[in-house]
Amino acid sequence: MQYRKDKYGEDISVLGYGCMRFTRKGTSIDIDKAEKEVMAAFNAGVNYYDTAYIYPGSEAAMGEIIARNNIRSKIKIATKLPQYLIVSKKAIDKYFAEELSRLRTDYVDYYLMHHLTDVEMWEKLKQIDIISWIEEKKKSGAIKNIGFSYHGNTENFLKILNDYDWDFCQIQYNYLDEVSQAGVEGLKAAAAKGIPVVIMEPLRGGRLVNLLPEEAKKMIAEESRGWTAAEWAFRWLYNQPEVTCVLSGMNSLEMVEENCKTADTSPEGHFTEEDYKFIEKIKAIIKEKEKVGCTGCRYCMPCPKGVDIPGIFRCYNAMYTEGKKDGRFQFAQTVGLTKEPAFASQCIECGKCEKHCPQNIPIREKLKEADKKLRPLHYKIGIGIARKYMFRKAKTKKNK
Ligand code: SF4
Ligand code: SF4
Repeated sequence: MQYRKDKYGEDISVLGYGCMRFTRKGTSIDIDKAEKEVMAAFNAGVNYYDTAYIYPGSEAAMGEIIARNNIRSKIKIATKLPQYLIVSKKAIDKYFAEELSRLRTDYVDYYLMHHLTDVEMWEKLKQIDIISWIEEKKKSGAIKNIGFSYHGNTENFLKILNDYDWDFCQIQYNYLDEVSQAGVEGLKAAAAKGIPVVIMEPLRGGRLVNLLPEEAKKMIAEESRGWTAAEWAFRWLYNQPEVTCVLSGMNSLEMVEENCKTADTSPEGHFTEEDYKFIEKIKAIIKEKEKVGCTGCRYCMPCPKGVDIPGIFRCYNAMYTEGKKDGRFQFAQTVGLTKEPAFASQCIECGKCEKHCPQNIPIREKLKEADKKLRPLHYKIGIGIARKYMFRKAKTKKNK
């Protein structure tokens, strides 16, 4: 196994175990199967295990596996505060205590504010004094590293990143998300500050393997080195020195074995010019089905009315390359749930953006088309309700 360093110089395995996808037997986790898989990864050198309060049964399963095998001091646990459920400081203690008890430990190595999509969510946590809570937990040793996991746009990522002295962060990143979410810009900004970056969704939830177009699958199968589709996606990440650890939600021994082998043989900078060209060809095949030829360059931004033009086009395209539901889900996460609304319906058709678009996209027309598809009535209602809930006021001393 290869290792990269965390902020304090400790080794983290480049492959991290995502504990969200353990196999289930009915409604509960198949603990014996999960134990075999976790221990196979452990024996191959994986030392980073990522779970969360809201992954059903996952923290408790990890607690059980750790106790059965007496490996607590030999692994790093990453888990997450369900910040979207929290409106008071008291609640933070309650969730954290419950997580420690499920994991059968008295400290967490890497603790994350789970699923931030907007700087406003972080502001809400600050209002309930999360910073002094973090400082106290770090001082007592109950938390070793503090970070956040992120799913919004690049601008908000940079705001959160620069607002606090984080120890690490976790972002969705893969060869299709190079310029979306935190993106390569966010990755490099974090690395430049010395903040380790953990990668989630390296295979876009399996889409860079199972849902690849047939033509792309054929190209991969015929490529002379014989790398699998998953291997191409992992290698693209490991090649980048700014990437610290790549999570994979493994739920078979074959998957553990294949991923460990890839992690063992993919040092920084091992990609050749030819490899990059190959990935670009695969991307081009995936993008053939897209509805708008937007490259995500952002020259059209900022829009005076706050419309997230590249974000909307990316999700619109995702509806046709990854499936309707996925495109709409990505839209809800990255456009629909930002504090300042960024919908296409805010466009006043000033035309400013079109003057800057190197692809000559009729942005105004395409935005209308995208909005219709991305936000049918039931989605509009759903996103409206979610926005009210997520941006409700925190209970501070003043408004209690
Ligand atoms: S045309 Fe619409 S999207 Fe483009 S800059 Fe003007 S308001 Fe923004
Ligand atoms: S300028 Fe054009 S290609 Fe670039 S992000 Fe905006 S719409 Fe997309």
